[in-house]
Formats: sequence, C-alpha cells, structure tokens
Amino acid sequence: MSSMSEIFGSLVFNEHVMKERLPAETYAALKRTIEQGRSLDLNIANVVANAMKDWAVEKGATHFTHWFQPMTGITAEKHEGFLCPQKDGTAIMRFSGKELIRGEPDASSFPSGGLRATFEARGYTAWDATSFAFIKDKTLCIPTAFCSYGGEALDKKTPLLRSMELLNRQALRILRLFGDTQTVRVNTTVGPEQEYFLVDRALYEKRRDLIYCGRTLFGAKPPKGQELDDHYFGSLKDRVSAFMHDLDEELWKLGIFAKTEHNEVAPAQHELAPIFTTTNIATDHNQLTMELMRKVAGRHGLVCLLHEKPFAGVNGSGKHNNWSISTDSGVNLLEPGDSPRENAQFLLFLAAVIKGVDEYQDLLRISVASAGNDHRLGANEAPPAIVSMFVGDDLLEVLRAIETGSDYDRRDKIEMRIGVHTLPRFTRDTTDRNRTSPFAFTGNKFEFRMVGSSQSIADCNTMLNTIVAEELSGFADQLEGAADFETALNDLIRDTIIAHKRIIFNGNNYSEEWVAEAQKRGLLNLRSTVDALGYLIKEKNITLFTKNKIFTESELHSRYEILLEKYCKTLNIESLTMLEMIKKEILPSCLKYQKALAETALEKKQISAALNCSVEEKLLTDISSLTSSLCERAAQLEGALLSAKGLSDSPSQAAAFRDMVFPSMQEARAVADELEVLVAKEYWPYPGYGELLFSVE
Ligand code: ADP
Ligand code: MG
Repeated sequence: MSSMSEIFGSLVFNEHVMKERLPAETYAALKRTIEQGRSLDLNIANVVANAMKDWAVEKGATHFTHWFQPMTGITAEKHEGFLCPQKDGTAIMRFSGKELIRGEPDASSFPSGGLRATFEARGYTAWDATSFAFIKDKTLCIPTAFCSYGGEALDKKTPLLRSMELLNRQALRILRLFGDTQTVRVNTTVGPEQEYFLVDRALYEKRRDLIYCGRTLFGAKPPKGQELDDHYFGSLKDRVSAFMHDLDEELWKLGIFAKTEHNEVAPAQHELAPIFTTTNIATDHNQLTMELMRKVAGRHGLVCLLHEKPFAGVNGSGKHNNWSISTDSGVNLLEPGDSPRENAQFLLFLAAVIKGVDEYQDLLRISVASAGNDHRLGANEAPPAIVSMFVGDDLLEVLRAIETGSDYDRRDKIEMRIGVHTLPRFTRDTTDRNRTSPFAFTGNKFEFRMVGSSQSIADCNTMLNTIVAEELSGFADQLEGAADFETALNDLIRDTIIAHKRIIFNGNNYSEEWVAEAQKRGLLNLRSTVDALGYLIKEKNITLFTKNKIFTESELHSRYEILLEKYCKTLNIESLTMLEMIKKEILPSCLKYQKALAETALEKKQISAALNCSVEEKLLTDISSLTSSLCERAAQLEGALLSAKGLSDSPSQAAAFRDMVFPSMQEARAVADELEVLVAKEYWPYPGYGELLFSVE
C-alpha cells in the first residue's frame, strides 16, 4: 500500500496538479477566476479542459460528467465519453473548454416545483470552479451548479454559492469598518460530523422496508437495546474496522480528510468527522462521503443506513454542521482574539448570529425539515424542534455585563467597555458541555445539530449564511453612517443583545420545562415538517431572500412545493410498503403458524383427549385476534391513504398524511410488533431488531 500522503488527493485536480500541469499564465488566470468568482474565458477553459483530460486519462478515466445536486437531495451525473471518432476510422480523446464550463443534461425529470415550462425543460449546468474536479468510477467529475435557461436555480448548490457571495460582501464591509484593508475574501467554513448505521447485507435484503424506505417500518423491541451504553466509543468490530479503513482510503483519494471515526450511542451506529473546509466544498465532500459510505459498505457485505431513524426506540442519526466564518488569510472571525479590537469585532459577528438566529428561527427549522428528521427532532434524543442558541457560561456572563453595562470581571472590577477590554478565552472545555442545544457555540464555531443524517448540508448553510449576512448588512448600514464609531458599536451590540437574548438558552433542551419556557419567550415550536414548511413563503422570508438575491419569489414557491411533495411521497411509499409487508408476508406467516398450532392441538387430541392443549389454544386465540386486528388496521391505513391522495392541493394533502396516514401507520405497526413477539421465529418473515443491530462482528 502506498503512503497516506501519496494517496491523499490523488484523484483530485487540485491546485498542486493545476500548477504542475497548466502553463503559468493559464494557472494565474484560473486562480484569479476562482478567487474572485469571475466567469472563465473560453480560451483559458480550453487549456484547462485539455490538461484535465490528459491528467484524468492517465489516471484511467474514460468518461467525464458534470456532477450536480438537484432538489432530490442527492447528486446526479450523466457520463459522456472522452473518445471522439475521427473520419479515418481512428479516435482521439477530447474534452473541450465548452464542455468543461457548461453542460446540458437532459434533466427534465428532476423536481422543479413547476419552475420549468416544458420548452425549457432541460436546464444547464455550470462549473463551480471553486470546487476541484475529481475522478470517481473512471469518470472525471466536474462539480457544477444547475439552473434553468431563465436563470432559476434548480439545485441546492446555486443558492448556497449565492449565499456565500452575499456573506462575503457584507462581512467585508464590517472588516473595513474595523480598519482591515487586507482581506479580499471572507468564506464560511463547515465540518459536518456524519452519523450512520451499518447492518449485514444478507439480513437487509430480507426486509422490504429497509430496501424501499431505508428504515424499518416494523420491529419489536429486542431484549437488549442501547441501555448499557456499551457501544458508545467502544472498540470497533473487525468488519466495521475494515470498512472504516477502506472508506478512509477512498475518501483520502478524493481529498476528503476523514479525521475521526468512532462508535456512536446506538448499537451498529457510527460517526465520521472530516476536517473542516470552505462551505461549498464541504457540501460536495459530504455528498461524496455519503455515497462512498454506501458503496464501500457493499464491498464488506454490509449496508450503510443513512436514514434519520432506521430503528424505533434506538437513537437516530444526525449530522452536526460545524460552521464558522473565516478570512482568506485564515483568521476565524468567530474566535475571540487577543486585542480589544479583535474582541469588539468578534462580539459584533456574534451579535449578528444571535439576531439572525432569533429573527429567522423558522428558516433554520425548515432547512432540516423532512419526513425522516421528524422522527428525531423533539423525540428526546436530538435537539427539540425549538431553535435556540447555547453560548456557554463565560460568554453569557460577558453578554449580561454588556446588556446591563456592569462589571463583568468581578475579580478585577474592570468595567466592561467593548473595544477597550479584552475578553477571556473561550476554550472548548468550558463551552461544549451542553450537547442538547440545537445551535451551540463551541469556542470558535457554531455547531448546528438539527440536521438529519441523510440531508444535504447545502440547505442549512444557505440559511445560515443568508441570515447572518442580512444582519451584518444592517449593522454595516448603521455603523458606516455613525459619527462616533466606538459609541455606535457599543450601543449596537448592547441593543442587539437586549432585543434578542430570548434565543439564548444554556440549559437542558430535552427537558419539558424548556418547551414551556420557550413558549413563554415566544419562540417557535414547529413540531413537524408540515408545520414548518409554510413559513418558507411568509412575507418576511420572501423579502429576505429576494432582497439579497438568494431566491426569487418563484424559486421559493417552487421549493415549498417540492418539499411538501417530497414529504407526501415519502409517507406514501412507506404506507404502501407497510401494506405490502402486512398482506404478503406478515398475515400469511401468522396464518401458517396458526395452522401449525391448530394441527398440533388436533393431533394431540387424536392421541388422547386427556392431553393438555392449553398452550396451543392460548396462542391460537391471541394470535388469531391480533391477526384480525392487524387486518383492520391495514384497512384503516388503506382508507387514510386513499383520502389523503384524493386531496389536490399540496398543503392539505401533506396535513392529511401527517394527521391521518402517519397515525394509522403507527397503529398498524403496534399490532404487527405484538405479533412478532408471539409468533415462532421460524415462521416470522423477516429478521428482527436483535439480529439487525447485533449481527455485525
Ligand atoms: P467534536 O465536536 O466531535 O468533539 P471538534 O470540535 O474537534 O470535535 O470538531 C468537530 C468538527 O468541527 C470537525 O469536523 C472540525 O473540523 C470542525 N471544525 C473545527 N473548527 C472549525 C471551523 N473553524 N469551522 C468549521 N468547522 C470547524
Ligand atoms: Mg461535535
């Protein structure tokens, strides 16, 4: 095996390769384009494309594809060969600048929420030059954004890039106010920690629910679950460890630095954390990580489950989106500095985050809303559906002192005056004790913990970037016009804290008291996806997005439609899968077992009327009554499904799925799980939780 440094990034057309393979002036031009976000000149694109092709072919690639992230939430690609036949019967390998910068996938089947009229159904993809091209499956992949010919975003990447640009502009205005003339680019950075389950492939294949829905729709509680906490950070099983090594190597080749990996709380649950990077790249990398997790699992006879809640009664999986803001020279703007100036600047950025999170709680909630994540949020294992912020005790004390204008350092009796006094260092240790907060300050970054394990992080980062940029823009407006900067800064920070401190909560977010307290504070508690989605098209949010050119009004409406539709489709598939499993598997098994019990009793009676058949009779009675009850529940589910599907407008349909279909699914499941406990194992049609959760050695 080659060394790690040889492997790392070996399949990426990164800066190192560019420098090595491109003529100096092309490299310089490309770098300018990347750094300043300009569009690429076709002559330069031709040279870059040719160098990329040569490099890719040397690495064994035969095809290229524009790699994009449509609204389905996963990635899409359409492979085209480099091979170009010549008139004389030979062929050459070709890849032009035009093919590099723009593609036209026939992508009319991707969800567009009514955005595309049929005449412009195709849309086009455009290279995001800030994210390196890479090789996957012998294919050169060009990370792209996907738009309609009218310029409307049809993907998750375009709004993300727009929001990064917006944040860059507004953050630079603030930096200039503090006398920074050097910084030319401000980026947000993200490190997403990814949770997942591994189950044995042979067992997985016996469960239609896992195959169709990615989660179990049935399953009695096994005698052992996660109560002993013996899996958390426990030693890795051999097969899991082999999977992780293999996965690491694949990720390293793509320049993704997987840093830590460990067992999570639930049995069969694990986590992977990469080293953070620029947000759009982190988003691409997270998509690749999820894809590779699935693929590499297959090589080890395993299946990787990325669903938010594969098993009821066992912890679900999330993604911790660690987010910060950084200058091009690597200064973390969410890290308190050493000088008073740096600290005042830190407090201003912090104030923008506090105000943004408070004013746009709904948007953060929407960014993580999905049928799958509804099983986690508020279910006592993940943060609740209420958005709030944790800042740690040290910082809270500083904020209180600013608010009241009082001493904040009681020992030194130094009066707190922003821009004069130096803040204490916030080390991780003092700030990261609270694991229940949806949005926790961890010393030099925020950890947004509501994201579901299967979701693209493009959505939540688009929201974070936009809302913080919006607040920075308001701050810059005020400060740029101020007669006395320092006084204006003091007042601004203090007023912001007073107005928005209700969003800060350092206590236990899982407690019932918090739900009551949050309500008193007037914070939103949007329990389900359907509750949350309507807020996307509220006036204040439409204003935010259109003013800042992140979404047009029609883009927002289309996204709202797509999200509602996806919710309904997911519950529809789950219901149909349930019905199929009940009718084709569970009921026949129950009947077969009943027949066996009846025959046993009969045979015994034939031998001697005195023989005791009470066990057979008891089981027969219980199973028979539960079986008919399961039949009724299935009919009820079918009825609920039919009436939901009969509704034509999507908000009422989604509400019907939530209020009628979902509860019917729960009821059917409860009966089936009772039967699973009673029916003999050899008759039960699919492997149970115990096997699924504890079989990987
Ligand atoms: P944990 O939360 O698991 O104890 P860490 O806090 O060290 O571990 O890191 C969690 C994640 O946060 C990692 O992916 C790390 O790269 C990321 N991270 C660290 N600093 C930043 C930053 N400035 N911006 C974004 N992500 C960061
Ligand atoms: Mg963490």
